[in-house]
Amino acid sequence: MSASAVHAGPRSLVVVGASLAGLRAVEAARKAGFTSRITLIGDEPRLPYDRPPLSKQMLAPDGPTDPVTFRGRAEFDELGVELLLGTPATGLDPDAKVVHAGGAEVPYDALVIATGAAACGLPGTEGLAGVHVLRTLDDARAVRRALDEGARTVVVGAGFIGSEVASAARKRGLPATVVEALPAPLVRSVGRELGAALSSLHTRNGTVLRCGQAVAAVEGADRIEGVRLTDGTVIGADLVVVGIGAMPRTEWLAGSGLPVDDGVVCDEFLGAGAPGVYAAGDVARWHNVLFDRSMRVEHWSAAAEQGARAARNAVAPEDLRPYSTVPYFWSDWYGSRIQFAGVAAEDGVEIVSGDPAGDHFVALYREGDRLTGVLTLNGQRHVMKYRRLIAQHARFDEAVAFARASATTAS
Ligand SMILES: Cc1cc2nc3c(=O)[nH]c(=O)nc-3n(C[C@H](O)[C@H](O)[C@H](O)COP(=O)(O)OP(=O)(O)OC[C@H]3O[C@@H](n4cnc5c(N)ncnc54)[C@H](O)[C@@H]3O)c2cc1C
Repeated sequence: MSASAVHAGPRSLVVVGASLAGLRAVEAARKAGFTSRITLIGDEPRLPYDRPPLSKQMLAPDGPTDPVTFRGRAEFDELGVELLLGTPATGLDPDAKVVHAGGAEVPYDALVIATGAAACGLPGTEGLAGVHVLRTLDDARAVRRALDEGARTVVVGAGFIGSEVASAARKRGLPATVVEALPAPLVRSVGRELGAALSSLHTRNGTVLRCGQAVAAVEGADRIEGVRLTDGTVIGADLVVVGIGAMPRTEWLAGSGLPVDDGVVCDEFLGAGAPGVYAAGDVARWHNVLFDRSMRVEHWSAAAEQGARAARNAVAPEDLRPYSTVPYFWSDWYGSRIQFAGVAAEDGVEIVSGDPAGDHFVALYREGDRLTGVLTLNGQRHVMKYRRLIAQHARFDEAVAFARASATTAS
C-alpha cells in the first residue's frame, strides 16, 4: 500500500476503550503508516494494563501490587496518540461521525470500538462488603487484600477466572469452595466430559467443588458472612468472588443504530455496520470465516489481534482484510497450565495423550469429520500444532493419526 493511499483515507482515528484491543489498534494504525490524528478514549483513569495477571500473579502474597502496563505515557506521546483517560464515551452518532465523551464531541473519520466487557455481579449483593467481581485493577487489589487477611473464600461460578481465584486461595492454604450451577465446571468452554476432568484439579488441591448448586441467598448485614446454596447448605465466607460471566460494554451505543446482539455485530472485516466504524476484542461479535459462524470470544490473543486488524481496516479501507482465527486461551490453576484452541464441538472427544485424571493430557474435539478443537493440560508443546491443523481444516482421523505417530516418534 502506498503512503498516498493512506493519506487519501481517513484523516482521524478515534479508538474507544483503552485496554488491550484499543492499545493494539493505535499501535497498528501507526505501523500501517497512518500519520494523522489518533485519540484513545478510556473510562478507567489509568494507562492500559494487562488483565490476565489480575487473577494470577497479583493474587500471590509476594506478587506485584502494581499493574503490568504495556506502555508509559511518554511512549504514547512518541506514538502521537492523544489520551483521554478517565473519560467514558456516552454516545455515538454515526451519521455525524461523532463520539460523545466527557461532555465533549470527538469527531472521527475512522472509529474502533474496543470497550470490552464488564463482569456480571450477583444480584442482591450490591454494596455488601467482601463480595467482588474480578475485572479491573481495583477488583484485583480488593481480592488480594481479603486473601492477605486470610479470607475463607467462596467462588461463585467455576469458570476460568473464578478457578484461578480458588487456586490462589489454596496456594495460601486458605479454605476455598467453588459453587457451580451446572453439573460440571466449564461446560460451555470445554464441554461436559473434559470440564469434569479439569474439575479434579480443584478437588486434588483441596478446593471444595459444589456443582449443580446455585446461590439461594447471601448472609451478612453489611459484610458477607456466608453463602446459602439451593440445597440449604450454608458456607461461611469472608470473601465471595463472583465469576459468572461478562457482558459486552455496549450500553453507550444505545440509540446509535449500530447492530448489537451480545456484542457489536461485525462482518468478517470487523466492520460494525456504519461507515468507518469497526469493533475489536471482547465487545465484538464477528463472522469468523474459518468456522463460518458468528463468534464473540473473551480471549487475550483475539483481543490483541482484532484490535490490530480493525485499525488497519479502518485506516486503509481500500485494503480491507478479514479477521479469522482459531480462538485460543490459556488459564493457570494450581501450577498447571490449561490451554484450549478452537471450538468445543461435542460430536466426539478423544484423549490422544496422557490421562484426564492426571497432570497431563491432550484431547481433540470433532464436529462431523472435522477437527475443531484441542484442550491440553500441561501440554504446551502440543497445543499450537493442533491449532495449526484446525486452521488447515484437518480431518479428525488425520489429527488422531498424527497424534499416534507423534507419540511413537517421541517414545
Ligand atoms: C482477571 C482476568 C484474567 C484473564 N486471564 C486470561 C487468560 O489467562 N487468558 C486469556 O486468553 N484471556 C484472559 N483474560 C481475558 C483478556 O484479558 C481479555 O480478553 C482482554 O482484556 C480483552 O481486551 P479488550 O481490550 O477487548 O477489553 P477490556 O480489557 O475489557 O478493555 C475494555 C476497556 O474499555 C473501557 N470502556 C468500557 N466502556 C467504555 C466507554 N463507554 N468509554 C470509554 N471506555 C470504556 C473499559 O473500562 C476497559 O478499560 C482475562 C481477563 C480477566 C478480567
